[in-house]
Amino acid sequence: MSCDLTLLANEAIRGLSPYQAGKPESELARELGISDIVKLASNENPLGPGELASKAAQAAISQLHRYPDSNGFFLKQALATKLKVTPQQITLGNGSNDLLELLARTFAGPDSQVIFSQYAFVVYPIATQAVGATAVVTPANAYGHDLDAMLTAINDTTRLIYIANPNNPTGNYLTPDALQRFLAQVPERVIVVLDEAYFEYAEHDADHAIAWLAQFRNLVVTRTFSKAYGLASLRVGYSVSDPAIADLLNRVRQPFNVNAIALAAAEAALADDVYLQRSVELNRAGMAQLEAYFERAGFTYIPSKGNFITFDLEQPALPVYQQLLQEGVIVRPIVPYGLPNHLRVSVGLESENQRFIDAMQKLGIKGEK
Ligand SMILES: *Cc1c(COP(=O)(O)O)cnc(C)c1O
Repeated sequence: MSCDLTLLANEAIRGLSPYQAGKPESELARELGISDIVKLASNENPLGPGELASKAAQAAISQLHRYPDSNGFFLKQALATKLKVTPQQITLGNGSNDLLELLARTFAGPDSQVIFSQYAFVVYPIATQAVGATAVVTPANAYGHDLDAMLTAINDTTRLIYIANPNNPTGNYLTPDALQRFLAQVPERVIVVLDEAYFEYAEHDADHAIAWLAQFRNLVVTRTFSKAYGLASLRVGYSVSDPAIADLLNRVRQPFNVNAIALAAAEAALADDVYLQRSVELNRAGMAQLEAYFERAGFTYIPSKGNFITFDLEQPALPVYQQLLQEGVIVRPIVPYGLPNHLRVSVGLESENQRFIDAMQKLGIKGEK
């Protein structure tokens, strides 16, 4: 007798829905037989990889037969120097996604609760559910995190709170003051994961989150090389925390979770201030270009501190998404976030943003403002 293999999975896994990634250009090319595609769907850096990172990656190829440095010595050193922390506070991950999952595995389980906000990054519910923990989703406040609601939701079984700042897909930003007041009220037994994947794009007067680590031992800051550093394909991110937390994460991670090319390229990217600055400036200009279009066309948009912007179509977004695909423009529907009338557009090169704008105009899609 044949059995239903799906039912063999543990209960937490059976209830999971897979992460829906942005559509790859090559997939659309196959489907429609077109080239000249613009992808504004995954918040990637439109500049391409920096030259220093590319060179370092190419040099690392000669050692492909060797396992990578399991402890990522040089990258941790470089990060520690830059952030003024110790290497013992750093954990490297296969993308920061890896760290978000390791944190759930380390601190949460079937008897615990994990708090995150409505409209927050979709990896939080996946990581929570995969370890059998209970998700407590606090209602958003104007699409952003309601920190008071999150504080109120804490109970004896709360182990973890995820906060994305800026948040994806809404781009909302919490001020340092608001976050610091929040952290001061969270019991030390609750781990706060501050996901700063878009840190480099938001304007900062100081690196507040890293400074807070001295004060709040339950704080974990995660960052990535996928966005402003332009290395999404290599999968490398990191967390900064108390060394005791880093030690725990180190016990559960795969021994070689970051490959040698990624280690080398990330270290080089970290030293490439010119590339980072160009990336941030290009993003600022592109954001202004897209905002001006949304204003002209009468769309309400959510002001964003990231490298993407989410706007309200005031009609179901999926048909518009499909029509844009026909025009060779890939954006991101965010139906899984409970935002069926919104689309998220990553900030691209000026010409790419214009392709999106031209396609919207050609299709005659306007806002109602
Ligand atoms: C893109 C993103 C990440 C992680 O990306 P990685 O490529 O896994 O480093 C994490 N958090 C948020 C909010 C993101 O948007």
